[in-house]
Amino acid sequence: MPEHFRVFATCDIGEALDVLRKRGYQVEVYPDPEAPPKALIVEKARSGIDGLITTIRDQIDAEVLEAGKGRLKVVSQLAVGFDNINRADANRYKIPFTHTADVLTEATAEFAFFMLGDLARRLWTAEHLTRENKWGYWHPYLPFLGDEVTGKTIAIIGTGRIGLAMIKKCAGFDMNILCYDPAYENHEYVKAIQETMDLRHTRGIQKEKTWIKYVPFEEALVQADFVSVHVPLLREGESQTPTYHLFNEKNLRKMKPTAFLVNTSRGPVIDENALARALKENWIAGAALDVYEKEPLPADSPLRDPAIEDRCRLLPHFASAAKITRLSPDPNKGMAGRCVQGLIDVLEKNYGGDVKKMPYVVNKEAF
Ligand code: NAD
Repeated sequence: MPEHFRVFATCDIGEALDVLRKRGYQVEVYPDPEAPPKALIVEKARSGIDGLITTIRDQIDAEVLEAGKGRLKVVSQLAVGFDNINRADANRYKIPFTHTADVLTEATAEFAFFMLGDLARRLWTAEHLTRENKWGYWHPYLPFLGDEVTGKTIAIIGTGRIGLAMIKKCAGFDMNILCYDPAYENHEYVKAIQETMDLRHTRGIQKEKTWIKYVPFEEALVQADFVSVHVPLLREGESQTPTYHLFNEKNLRKMKPTAFLVNTSRGPVIDENALARALKENWIAGAALDVYEKEPLPADSPLRDPAIEDRCRLLPHFASAAKITRLSPDPNKGMAGRCVQGLIDVLEKNYGGDVKKMPYVVNKEAF
C-alpha cells in the first residue's frame, strides 16, 4: 500500500481523483471554479504536500517551489502546454512536472477544424440572421456568401502532435497542405498523407489532386488560404525560434487579404492589437481564436470591436473541452487520468524510480 501522500489540486478534475483516494492519498481540492490565489498555492506547498495538481491558470515558479522545498515531489499539470510552469525554476529545485500530451490531440485538432469551418462558411453570422428574423429570402448571393474549404490551401504552423492531427483532418476535406516547423519535420507522415491523397484521387474519391509539402514560414504565410497555429508558447531565450508574437504586424501583412487565421495554441503567439487592426483594415479576411494574451478575454479587448465581429470568432479556450478528453480517468483516454497517473508515477517511484523513464514527465533534463 502506498504511503499516505498528501495532494492539493487547484481545481476539481473529477472521478480520476478517486484513483488517488482509493490508494490512500489525502486529496484536497480547491472548491471554487476560479483559479485559487497564488498565495494559497504557496501556503499549500509550504504545508508539506507531496504532490500538486495544476492547470494552465496557475503560475508555478520559484516562489511556489521554494515553499515546497524538501517535501513537494511533483507538479502534475492538466494540460499539454506548460508555459505557466517555469521550467528553469523546476529544474533548479529538481522537481519533476508532468503534462497530459496526446490524449487531447484529436479533440484539439477537430476543434481547430470546426473553428475554421465556422469562419469560412460564416456559420455564426448565418445563425444570427435566422435568430434575429433577418432571413427574408433565399437569394443566390445576398446577404453574403462564405468560402469553401474543399480544394483550398492550408498552412499548418507547428507539425507536432496536434499539427499532424490537423493535417489528417484537412486532408480528408481535400485541402492542399503547406507545413512549417523549424525544429521537427515529419517527412514520413507527410509522405503517407500524400500517398492517401493520391489513392483517393486515383480511386475517384476526390476529384482534384491535392498535395502536401514542407515550406519556409514566409512561403506558408504568403500562399495559404487558411493558417492554423499549433506551436507551444516559447518566449525569447526559451527557444532559437520563439513563438511569442510570431503573428505580429509584419507577418500578418504577409498573409493574403482573403486568408483566415485559426489559433488554438496559446494567446501570446498572436499580437492581438496587430490582429485587431489586420481585421479592421482588411489585411486578412478573418480569424478564429480559442486562446488569448490574457484569459478570460478582457471586456475592453480590441478583438471585441463590433466592427469586426462578423469576421472574428472568439471561443473560450475550449479546444480540449470534450467529455472523455477532459475527464476520463483512463490515462490512455483522458487528461484527468493521465494527470493522476503522472503524479502516481513520481510519488510511487514507478519505472524503478527513474524520472527519465516516466512517460509524462516533461523536464527530464533536470535528472
Ligand atoms: P508539440 O510539442 O507536439 O508540437 C508543437 C510543435 O511546434 C513542435 O513540433 C515544435 O517543433 C513546433 N514549433 C516550435 N517552435 C515553432 C515555431 N517558431 N514555428 C513553428 N513551429 C514551432 O505540442 P502539441 O501537443 O501539438 O501542442 C501544441 C500546443 O497547443 C501546446 O503547446 C498548447 O500550448 C496548445 N494546446 C492548446 C489547447 C487548447 O485547448 N486550446 C489544447 C491543447 C494544446
